[in-house]
Amino acid sequence: MGKDAVYSQSELAAHQRALKTCRLCPQMIPPVITGDPVMSPVMSIGQAPGVHEAKVMRPFGWTAGKTLFRWFEAIGLEEALFRQRVYMSAVCRCFPGKNPQGGDRVPSADEVAACSRWLQAEIQILRPRLIILVGKLAINQFWWQRSWRMLWASAIPSCWTGAQRI
Ligand code: SF4
Repeated sequence: MGKDAVYSQSELAAHQRALKTCRLCPQMIPPVITGDPVMSPVMSIGQAPGVHEAKVMRPFGWTAGKTLFRWFEAIGLEEALFRQRVYMSAVCRCFPGKNPQGGDRVPSADEVAACSRWLQAEIQILRPRLIILVGKLAINQFWWQRSWRMLWASAIPSCWTGAQRI
C-alpha cells in the first residue's frame, strides 16, 4: 500500500467496477481495460489500450506489452510479478480506434479530460510513491509534476528515453 493510502482494497475494487461501466466518450470503443486491483505504492500509467487488449482484457496484453515486459525482464522483473505488484493504469481506458493515416488514433483532449477522473481517483486511493509513465501521452500529462517520483518510458516500442528521480 502507498505510504499515505487511507483507502482499502474493497474501495479500489468498487472503483474498478464503476470504471468498467463508463461510456462517457462516444468515439471510444469499449470494453474498458483495467489492470488488477492491486493496492500498490507503484503505479504504471500507459496511453490507452490497443485493439487486441480486449481479447485478453488487460493493459499491455499485446505487442507494446511484449516490449515493455522485455525491458522489465532484463532487470529481473517477470511480467506476472509486475502485474501482481504494480497497479496498471492509463490516461484512457478504452480503445480509441484506428487513425486513417495509420496506427491507433490518439485520444482527444476531451477524452483525456473525461478519463482523468478515473486516473485521479486511483492516485487518490493509492497515493503512489512511484509512478512509471509509459508513452508520450502519459508523459505529457505528468511531466510537470514535481511532487512524485517517476520513471518514464517514451515512444514504445523504440526505447527507454530516460529515468528520473524527482
Ligand atoms: S476512455 Fe475513459 S472516460 Fe472515456 S469511455 Fe472509456 S473509461 Fe470512460
